[in-house]
Parts: sequence; C-alpha cells; structure tokens
Amino acid sequence: MSNGQFGQAGGQPIFILSEGAIRSKGRDAQRNNIAAAKAVADAVRTTLGPKGMDKMLVNSLGDVVITNDGATILDEMQIEHPAAKMMVEVAKTQDKEVGDGTTTAVVLAGELLKKAEDMLDQEIHPTVITKGYRLAKFEALRILEKIATPVSINDYEKLEKIANTAMTGKSAEKASKELSQLCVAAIKKVAGKDNGSRIDTDNIKIEKKAGGSINDTKLIEGIIIDKEVVHSSMPKEAKNARILLLESALEIRELENDAKISIDSPEKMQAFMEEEDRMLRSMVDKVLKSGANVLFCQKGIDDVAQHYLAKAGMLAARRVKKSDMEAMEKATGAKIASNLDDLSKADLGFAGIVQEKKVSGDRMIFVEECKEPKALTLLIRGGTEHVVDEVERAVEDAVKGIASALELGRIVVGGGAAEIEVARLLRKYAETFKGREQLAVTAFADAMEVIPRSLAENAGLDPIDQLAALRAEHDKGMRTVGLDVLNGCVADMEKAGVIEPLKIKLQAVQSAAEVAEMILRIDDVISAGSKGGAPKMPEGMGGGEDY
Ligand code: ADP
Ligand code: MG
Repeated sequence: MSNGQFGQAGGQPIFILSEGAIRSKGRDAQRNNIAAAKAVADAVRTTLGPKGMDKMLVNSLGDVVITNDGATILDEMQIEHPAAKMMVEVAKTQDKEVGDGTTTAVVLAGELLKKAEDMLDQEIHPTVITKGYRLAKFEALRILEKIATPVSINDYEKLEKIANTAMTGKSAEKASKELSQLCVAAIKKVAGKDNGSRIDTDNIKIEKKAGGSINDTKLIEGIIIDKEVVHSSMPKEAKNARILLLESALEIRELENDAKISIDSPEKMQAFMEEEDRMLRSMVDKVLKSGANVLFCQKGIDDVAQHYLAKAGMLAARRVKKSDMEAMEKATGAKIASNLDDLSKADLGFAGIVQEKKVSGDRMIFVEECKEPKALTLLIRGGTEHVVDEVERAVEDAVKGIASALELGRIVVGGGAAEIEVARLLRKYAETFKGREQLAVTAFADAMEVIPRSLAENAGLDPIDQLAALRAEHDKGMRTVGLDVLNGCVADMEKAGVIEPLKIKLQAVQSAAEVAEMILRIDDVISAGSKGGAPKMPEGMGGGEDY
C-alpha cells in the first residue's frame, strides 16, 4: 500500500497516487483510527468527575497548565493523528455549544468506538453498526428529553446547584458556594424578560488577577481593564465619563526601513523635533475636540501626546486589548474609532465613573455605572496564576452551564443517574430489533454506562459493584439514583443537589455518536506524500509498511 499502487492491468501495476503517498485500507485503517480515538478518550478519562485527577501540561516554551478541563487538555496536547483530531473537535464543539461536558463527550465517543471494535471482531459490518448506533442515538436523545425536569430563572437554588455541579472537582471547589452565588447573580442581571431563555454570556466578562484568595472573587457592575492610567499626572478618576475608544495609535508612524533623513545641523534637528511635536499636538487636539474626557487606545500613545493629554485633564490608557475595546463598545455605547479626522460626539460612550484602583499591588481601570446595565465583570482572585486560571475555567463552565440550563429550561440528574437511566431504557428499546442491529443498540446502551463507571473508578470505588447497585435501583424505578462519589456510595443525586443542564447531555450524546459513526465509516486512509520529504503519515498509522 505504501507506493500509491492502486491496481494492475496486464501484469503492469498502475500508479495513480504521487510518489511517497501512503495508503492504509480496510480493517487496518479502521483499527488505527479506532486506536487513536480511544487513546484520546483514555487521556481525559481519569479527569472525569469531582474526584477526577488533574493534568499538568507543559508546552514547548515550558509554560505550565494544570487543569481538569477536557477541552483545555486536548487543546494543549497538540494532537496530530487525523482520527484523534476528530475527537478533539468533539470536545471543541461541546465547549462552544454548551461550555461544559467536554470530557463526557470524548469519553463516550471513545467507548462507542471500543464497543464497535468488539463488534467488528465478530465480523459485524460497519454499516450495520453505524445504523444501530444512529437508531440508538435518536432514542437516547428522546429518553433524555423525557427524563429531564424543568428549571426557570427564579429557581435560584437549582441554578446554584447547577453552577456547583459544574465546578466540583476543579480548584474552584473550595469556594464553590460563594462562586455559585456570584454566577447566579451575574446571570440574573444579564437575563432579559424572556425567562432567561436567551442569555448572552458575552455580557459577563471574566477578568483575573492572581493574589488574595478565591473568596475575594467579586462581581463588578461594569468592565475592568487590566491596564493603568498611562501618565502619572493624569487624573485617576473621571466622573460622568465621556469615553473615546480609539483603534489607531497616537504616535508618529515609524519611518520605512529604507527611508533616511539626514540631519546635519542643530537647527535641522530642532526643526525636526518641533515638527514632530506639532503633529502630535494636532492629533491630541483632534481627540480633545471630540469632547471626550477618557481615552482608551488600542495602540500606543507617544510620550509627548501623553503629556498634552495629561495637561488637558484626560484619563487615558494605551495598548488596551481588542476584546476589552469591544466589551466597552457594548457597555458604554461608544463606537470604536479608527480615524482621528472624523471623530464626533456620536462616537463617545458613557459611564458614570471610570477610575484606577489597586488590586493587590497592580493597578486596573474600572469602568462602572455603564450605559448598558447588563455589562458585568467577574473579577477572579486566587493564590497563584495557576489557581486563577483554573478558577476562571470553572467559573466559565458554571456561567455557561446555567445559561444552557435556562436555554432549554430543563435539567437532568448527574452522578451518572441520567446515563444509567438512558442505558436501561435503550436496552428495552433494543429488544424491538432482531439480530445484529439489536447488538449494536445494546452496545450503545452499554457504552452510556462508561460515565458512571469512570466516575466510580476515578473515586477509587469498585466499578462493577457500583454499576450493579445503580442498575438495581433504576430497575426499581429510582430514576434519580446515581453515584455520590464524594461520600462513596449510591444515592439520590437529585437530593444531593447534583444536577446538570439537559443540553450538556444532549450535545454530548449527539456529537459522540456522530464522531463514532464518522470514524467507523472510514475504510481507506490516503495521505499525500509531502513534496521533497517523507510523507506525513501520523504515527501508528502504519506508515511505510505494506499490508
Ligand atoms: P466534563 O468535562 O464532562 O464536564 P467533569 O470532570 O466536569 O467533566 O465531570 C462531570 C461529571 O461529574 C458529570 O457526569 C457529573 O454528573 C459528575 N458529577 C459532578 N459532581 C458530582 C458529585 N458531587 N457526585 C457525583 N458525580 C458528580
Ligand atoms: Mg464539567
């Protein structure tokens, strides 16, 4: 297979691929892909649940990330294998669509493929497996919808529990009660009158500063910019702020590389500097003419320009992040301006107060009492950089979790309770089929149980005993019984307050089933040879060998 040979005619091999192209077919291609996908699932499986372990990831520059978050782990791992990359996509989609449940989705996909492999070994054709999986997927989604219960924006207690469930197992856990309350408070503020079914979580900005403790995390009504006022003689506070957001620099552009100016006399030098000063002065005048008293500039502000701005009593910050500029655009009603020549009052935004405050030794600019009251910032604090990073991820999961619970207005019970119930009802559904299809649907049901099984394993509990106990309870009609890993026993998880948005589970089942199906359908992998070098066949794909 390694040489692009695709057939034979009259004893002559026919080459239709370029030299160096690599091809693997049939079971080999399938096995390789499945093995790679399973490897990805195994990599994150030990992090699942509140007792899951963390991973320490070190990149080529030596930067360290310590996390329990599936999407972050896979992102940092820089995976190369094409099938493995498809699994990473599952995590990314889950993260984008729901913001949580990434590990669940990937682990489920891995398990579906593992079960499929067993069926392939029994000579069941991939088409039969994918058909059975598709039927099972639709049924699983239907079951999830059916067992879900309602939640609304006024159920503070439930919303806090959702936030709490999303945060357990992360470093945020120590202060999860306080953080959950902050998340719910933030969601309440940004929710419209439509019962919270359309919550724009972009209105909730998350800013972090190492120092203090997690308990110092605060909800600020406004935007925080991690910059300081650029010049020491500028005011540190502006009331009734008229804010100008400027995209371009307040600097004289650097000369082109090959341009030269020759200065051969002190007079010329003087003239040159005066001209520069005059140009900066006129730039500052244009800014002042707009009527602004606060300036946020995305690029640099020249020292001379700073001086003139300070003299005019302007509060200014430079090199503000683009995302911050956009957040302020939304919060203050300003329009980001790029051209100094056509600034007008209409470009300005408004905030009741803009002030520089010290946050554990560092100065940050707070823009509060904004025109748009929905603009909020969660200022995350914690002992070290690594802690605030992980708390940020946890809070993000919690905020998005609440939002997606409200989006569908429905929740399910966690701790594996929902998965066990789906598995039980899917097995019943499987009985309506005959033969091999029944096998595939049953395999899907078994695969769902990987979630409670992994939760048990990660908590050091015996997975076989726990699963047997869970199944027995569910057979008795106890739908909300799951694995209470914190107490190491089977318990009513609804009572224990472990609830999750329905959307997490729907999306996880959907994308896990889809990627498994997609990988199973591949029976031929052809990698083009790269020009002038060895073909880029991923490791483990059998590159170079003949099958
Ligand atoms: P994911 O990336 O999939 O969100 P997590 O590590 O956050 O992975 O784990 C989520 C799983 O942990 C869910 O199945 C959830 O029901 C379960 N879980 C969360 N809190 C508890 C708890 N206190 N007891 C048992 N299971 C829990
Ligand atoms: Mg989670």
